[in-house]
Amino acid sequence: MAGGYDDRDGKIWMDGRLVPWRDANVHILTHAMHYASSVFEGERCYNGTIFESRKHSERLLASGAAIDMPIPYTVDEIEAAKYQVLEAMGLTDAYVRAVAWRGAGEDMGVASQRNPVRLAVAAWEWGAYYGDAKMKGAKLDISKWKRPSPETIPSHAKAAGLYMICTMSKHAAEAKGCSDAMMFDYRGYVAEATGANMFFVKNGEVHTPDPDCFLNGITRQTVIGMLRDKQIKVHERHIMPEELESFEQCWLTGTAAEVTPVGQIGDYSFEVGALTRDIAQSYEKLVRS
Ligand code: PMP
Repeated sequence: MAGGYDDRDGKIWMDGRLVPWRDANVHILTHAMHYASSVFEGERCYNGTIFESRKHSERLLASGAAIDMPIPYTVDEIEAAKYQVLEAMGLTDAYVRAVAWRGAGEDMGVASQRNPVRLAVAAWEWGAYYGDAKMKGAKLDISKWKRPSPETIPSHAKAAGLYMICTMSKHAAEAKGCSDAMMFDYRGYVAEATGANMFFVKNGEVHTPDPDCFLNGITRQTVIGMLRDKQIKVHERHIMPEELESFEQCWLTGTAAEVTPVGQIGDYSFEVGALTRDIAQSYEKLVRS
């Protein structure tokens, strides 16, 4: 059994080289610790190949640019780092976490022009994100926190600051026996879960929120492509909360979540139906092909 995430055997790639897992540390006056100047990626490796690896590396660089934090590595260098870590860890099926942040340096105020932008990559074995929800359907709470307007924060970046309300939402959900929370956006439309996008089924057609103020997940885009290949109509649009009652099926998509059926959101119930199962299976097949 592995220990805490800071107390494991293995190697982590940090700023260009592999270091022992327990030595992959930062100073307490790291800018990111105080001001959330950090962006990251969550990726999954299947049979030795990271699914959509380059897209994740490109998104990491785009997230850095979006928070005015250029990351001093190329996509090719990040790709090499990820596979170097997997090899050093002896892993072929793993979760891969790349994280870039403003380190400690000359600056300790809000501005951070003089501090280095750093990059690390770690990989570990990580099973189903929602435990047995994959079979039964996850139970979701409804968060009191809203996805913020793109005028408030770079809402398309996979940036640490955007996850503060996600952690709070998820803790509140877990206290009610739920495995995640659905969040509305700043206008009141259905948005996403705390680390996954959402899909709904009604009369054989699929409806998914327009990602105009939250992450347009790589899994989401993959699943939309799969649905269209199966000649299933997909509506990307604004979804009102009162529509939840009329949807028959619901699932979540995300690198960690993969395709996870949802059985309940607040007082609304959904069946784990044929289309949900079909998409979950097709996704599983695709990532291993
Ligand atoms: N929304 C949020 C807030 C997330 O953290 C994630 C996971 N990265 C997603 C959506 C899904 O994105 P992806 O499919 O690219 O993993």
